[in-house]
Amino acid sequence: MKNYLVKPGSKVSFKKCDPDGKRDMPFGKGKAQDKLRDLVDELRKLQSRLYAGHKHRLLIILQAMDTAGKDSTIRHVFTGVNPQGVRVASFKAPTQEELDHDYLWRIHSKTPAKGEIAIFNRSHYEDVLVVKVHDLVPPKTWKKRYSQINDFERMLSDEGTTIIKFFLHIDRNEQKKRIEERLNDPKKAWKFSEDDLKERKFWDNYQKAYEEAISRTSTVWAPWHIIPSNEKWCRNLLITSIIVDKLKKLGMEYPKPAKGLDKITVK
Ligand code: ATP
Ligand code: MG
Repeated sequence: MKNYLVKPGSKVSFKKCDPDGKRDMPFGKGKAQDKLRDLVDELRKLQSRLYAGHKHRLLIILQAMDTAGKDSTIRHVFTGVNPQGVRVASFKAPTQEELDHDYLWRIHSKTPAKGEIAIFNRSHYEDVLVVKVHDLVPPKTWKKRYSQINDFERMLSDEGTTIIKFFLHIDRNEQKKRIEERLNDPKKAWKFSEDDLKERKFWDNYQKAYEEAISRTSTVWAPWHIIPSNEKWCRNLLITSIIVDKLKKLGMEYPKPAKGLDKITVK
């Protein structure tokens, strides 16, 4: 399967990124769902070793336009893992206390500890996305943030955190469809927010902001993947397989039993 990695130093253009994903899949939806089940199970086993080993940390960053499926990705991909070792951090508009600190303050405290997986539902990237699109801080401030973010992620990586970043790529029509579903399906209505309509008007600005952010911050130590997400089954399969691949490369084993365990008898 293609892994949709953004090569460090390359310039991203969404025009060249298919949001559909089906065309590049080696199989159809039915087979993909079987594969996903296997991969989710593999992820469960790998996370069990990550947790037991208490050595590696994994940080997964999810960014996307509204309705692209960050929540649903988390539900589907991590459905099998032990909740003890996984934390989801959702970053909304900052509170006054957060605004009174630097923009990485609230982020750093949510990064994973040894043995943990942290999933960021939005992240410090909002500080070069929504902040840029809506002029929330002057350009001279946000322009410095790309290299600050690269340095911050480099530090995390040097200290033993594996970082994988995903942009869930949908097109404008798909977003329209999904907002309409939220309006028309009573089970989805709770997800509808007027803000999604307001932000949709800035679609082009957001796409440009994303292209720039991804181009400038896909690094060897914290690479971006642009995941075609119009089709949820493609999205889930690709993301799970990339995470499983990365975890496998860590070569994790359960810690060796302490010496003398074989001599202990439980009375
Ligand atoms: P969902 O709609 O699926 O519940 P969401 O992530 O869109 O999830 P919302 O509460 O709708 O959650 O939106 C959070 C909002 O907070 C987004 O519009 C986002 O751009 C905004 N936000 C996040 N970080 C920042 C930031 N640093 N500065 C300003 N706004 C931010
Ligand atoms: Mg929202």
